[in-house]
Order: sequence, then structure tokens, then C-alpha cells
Amino acid sequence: MAWIDRLQREGARWAGRGIDLLFPPRCILCHEDIVAADPIASANNQAAEACRGAVCTACIRAVSTDVMRCLRCGEAVSDTSDCRRCRGRPCDWDGIVVLAGYSDRLREAVLKAKHPASEDISAALATLLVRKHRVAITGWNIEAVVPVPMHWRRRALRRTSAADELARRMALLLHVPVWAGLRRHKATRMQNELPIEERRENVCAAFRAQRRLDGKCILLVDDVVTTGATLAACRRALVAAGAQAVFVAVVAKADRSVAQGDD
Ligand SMILES: [Zn+2]
Ligand SMILES: [Zn+2]
Repeated sequence: MAWIDRLQREGARWAGRGIDLLFPPRCILCHEDIVAADPIASANNQAAEACRGAVCTACIRAVSTDVMRCLRCGEAVSDTSDCRRCRGRPCDWDGIVVLAGYSDRLREAVLKAKHPASEDISAALATLLVRKHRVAITGWNIEAVVPVPMHWRRRALRRTSAADELARRMALLLHVPVWAGLRRHKATRMQNELPIEERRENVCAAFRAQRRLDGKCILLVDDVVTTGATLAACRRALVAAGAQAVFVAVVAKADRSVAQGDD
């Protein structure tokens, strides 16, 4: 009966508040208690659908404050309708959203998310990314989320993949499936070990789609982008498999002079 359901729901809500008062949720990035009445943290953590992966307002601000960026190439711009880099040249993908530039705080979170049992950190970063860019992403009509894959040997060694975890959470929030059919069939050298001019060659033809994606709009997901060579190579493989459009979502955009991340 409806009133019993309502009573149970109310009971669970008040029990939850009691538990929150006794054991307030902790921010997974700074480990401080999260204040229950904190509107920014509450909104984000409700979107995360649980206190698992909760982030406090100070950390949300620290990891997601960014300059204005071009939605086609991801470079910093003063006017989103006029990007000097995109003027007169084709872009490596159909659109890109970035949580923020690679600041110290975001770098720390991204590096933590690369370790096993750090799924909550990836989930929190993915939630922040979707919340920040929901309008743009919704306009892209995404049909599947695809993580940038690791070679199977590196995946076995690391025992986790931040891109997989980010993709899983973003797909959940966007109500679309994760498509894990993109493979890295060449064990390429780490992009951040190479000079920028050698990165395109290193990942060229390293990826292959396992089956057709005819007419699909794809959201390709990774934790860090530097030159974009890895994302461009993934996009070529997805387009070769029939994808109609490939958009990109990344947590951090590193400056080209900063040789960090997996590219
Ligand atoms: Zn925090
Ligand atoms: Zn641009």
C-alpha cells in the first residue's frame, strides 16, 4: 500500500539523517567530513547516487574550476565561438568536454584514480564531468560510451583502468551503454615517456574496433589529454568501424609543455 511505502521511505530518510549525523560522509579526496547542509556537495553527491564517492565543496571547486575552453578542440579561449586553433583546420574529433586543466589538486585525484580500489574517485570525477557539461553532452545525442583501452598486458599489471571506471559511471549518468569493443592491439610505449612529436607515430594504428558501429554517436572517455594523439587514433578506429560521430570527454587537459598523463 502507498502509505506503507511512504512510511518506509520516510523512515529510511530519517534513519539516513541519523547515520549522517553520527557518521558524516567523508570527502574521498581530502578525507574531511562533509557538512550535511552543504548545497553544492549535496547536489553533486546526490547525482553520484550515494555517499560512496562523496566530495566536499572545497574539493569540487578545486578540481573543477577551469578557464573557458573551445568545445571543438578543448584549448583555452576567450570566446567559445572564435577559437584560433580551430579556424580553417579540421579537428581530431567532433567535440570535447574537459573537467579542468591539470592543476595540482586535479593531478593528485587523477593519479589516485589510477590505482586499484580507487573506483570511487573515478566515479566522483565522472559525476563532476557530467554535471558540468550535461547540456553539451545531451546535445551530442550519445548512444554509447567507449573508454580509451589499455593493452591487455598493462591492464593485467595495473589491475584497474581509470578510463573504464570513468566510462562506466558516465554511461550510468547518461543512461546509455558502455561499449568495450575498442582494443589496443599494439603494446605501445607510454605516451608521457616520449617527446611530443613522436606521440602520433607511437599510437598510430594501435587501436581496432571489434565490431561495426554503423551510424552510432560515440562518447570516447579518458582521464588525461595532452597532445590528443591517443584520442585521435581511437577516433580513427571508431570511424573505420562505421561510427558517425566521435565526441570526447576527459577529466584533465594537460598543457602541451607538461609531459604528464597517458596522452
Ligand atoms: Zn574534500
Ligand atoms: Zn578550438
